[in-house]
Amino acid sequence: MEANRKWLSIPENIRKQLILNVFCSNCLDAVKIKDFVIKPNPAGVVLEGNCAVCGNGVARVVEIEE
Ligand SMILES: [Zn+2]
Repeated sequence: MEANRKWLSIPENIRKQLILNVFCSNCLDAVKIKDFVIKPNPAGVVLEGNCAVCGNGVARVVEIEE
């Protein structure tokens, strides 16, 4: 399955929580990811974007079972 479709197969409320809980190594906290893209990952998909607070590059792997 294509990465973006996998991502969209997750319920919207869960996706919102994932977007709001990405760890930023600069803020040392869970932050919102912005301007992200969905890429394929062996575990499912990975969100790659920027911290909404400081702009640092952040990523989050989202495990998805097929
Ligand atoms: Zn940050």
